[in-house]
Amino acid sequence: MERIVVLGGAESGVGAAVLAKVKGFDVFLSDNGKIKDEYVQTLKKWEIPFEEGGHTPELVLNANQVVKSPGIPDTAPMVKALRAKGIRIVSEIEFACHFDSAKKICITGSNGKTTTTSLIYYLLKNAGLNVGLGGNIGKSYAMQVATEKFDYYVLEISSFQLDDTYNFRPDIAIITNITPDHLDRYDHKMENYVKAKFKITRNLRPEDCFIFDSDDAITIGHLSKIVIKARMLPFSQEKTLEQGAFLDKDRIVMRVGQSQSEIYLRELSLGGKHNIYNSMAAALAAKASGLDDETIRMSLKSFLPIEHRLEPVLTVGGVTYINDSKATNIDSAWYALECQTRPVVWIVGGKDKGNDYGILEKLVREKVKAIVCLGIDNEKIHKAYEGIVGSDRIVDTRSAEDAVKAAAALAKDGDVVLLSPCCASFDLFKSYEDRGQQFKEAVRKL
Ligand code: ADP
Repeated sequence: MERIVVLGGAESGVGAAVLAKVKGFDVFLSDNGKIKDEYVQTLKKWEIPFEEGGHTPELVLNANQVVKSPGIPDTAPMVKALRAKGIRIVSEIEFACHFDSAKKICITGSNGKTTTTSLIYYLLKNAGLNVGLGGNIGKSYAMQVATEKFDYYVLEISSFQLDDTYNFRPDIAIITNITPDHLDRYDHKMENYVKAKFKITRNLRPEDCFIFDSDDAITIGHLSKIVIKARMLPFSQEKTLEQGAFLDKDRIVMRVGQSQSEIYLRELSLGGKHNIYNSMAAALAAKASGLDDETIRMSLKSFLPIEHRLEPVLTVGGVTYINDSKATNIDSAWYALECQTRPVVWIVGGKDKGNDYGILEKLVREKVKAIVCLGIDNEKIHKAYEGIVGSDRIVDTRSAEDAVKAAAALAKDGDVVLLSPCCASFDLFKSYEDRGQQFKEAVRKL
């Protein structure tokens, strides 16, 4: 019997292990660290043997095939040992796609993945399709292939998940945009990061679609170097397009094949320039999947903001508090600031990923009246913006509660307090969700 060893016991690894079990393989799961209790329960329920706190070479190196969780880097000793032995290593989505014939809409990119994925799922659901949502969001793809039967999947896919794919092929592939992020995993080479994202297009066929941001210089630059056989559906806010989606004054115009349709910007439920891009990408995917214009329009109208992404929390004393904790890089914070129309008290900071704060300087000048740093090391933020907002209008805090109190003291009726940290959360919080939750709790206590 073929032996499948799964490295990593979190969402994708456990999903892959369950799928392997269901398909009759000899399965073993091995995790270097501690496996969360909920996953231990799942492994036990499915009677899957596993180990945690280290990999036993004899139990791993006898695999016919290894499914590696996206969190484990290629530099990990066990991965090196497997490669040296020539054992095939695949990602969870690669493993799972061999057992699935559903149509797949797959979304990758630097920013906007979750929003675009959730929008598409919502659109397809509203059209009455039998559709699963997965990948980075919620349940893993493999777990759903093992336990459900969907006609469509909408999958959010990170570049790490694409790393060990070979035959994985979406029917509709989307790259939302490409800006520097996670470069540490790619030898600090942008080229490697871009190539990793473009892997999503590698197996596309002429009847498949590729949806991309044609205002994004990095995407366009890479497209000029490669050939993609699929139907190309670009979206743009800067130019008119023969096919795809573009802006015409106050409307989005969509052209897919012979069909043209329009959506007024005022009909979109999600605000902000970045969400026009996300809505365009989602609407194109929906239209390419055969949805009618009315369903698309109604769904874009009724979609509710997702937690931690420009999520309005409360208005207290005329000050509106917005939770954009998921903005963990400069580009996402750029869009969050860009769409503000009222004076902003900006809560920013955390674990810096090599940010170039100069990129936001113009927006800070235009929109930000005061800054509350929320992080252990705030030196770069002070250096970049103290001269703009004034040294009495930039303060340091180390908890969400203090940050909210400081922001409330700096804000007045009509202002916005925006948590859009452009940094990871791990210096003070467990995750961006934890940071967002603590922010919301602190606002509710005001
Ligand atoms: P991802 O899943 O790629 O991290 P999300 O949809 O969760 O993206 O959004 C993360 C943050 O990025 C949001 O808080 C928002 O500020 C910003 N953002 C969303 N869509 C875009 C986009 N298309 N371009 C740039 N920034 C975006």
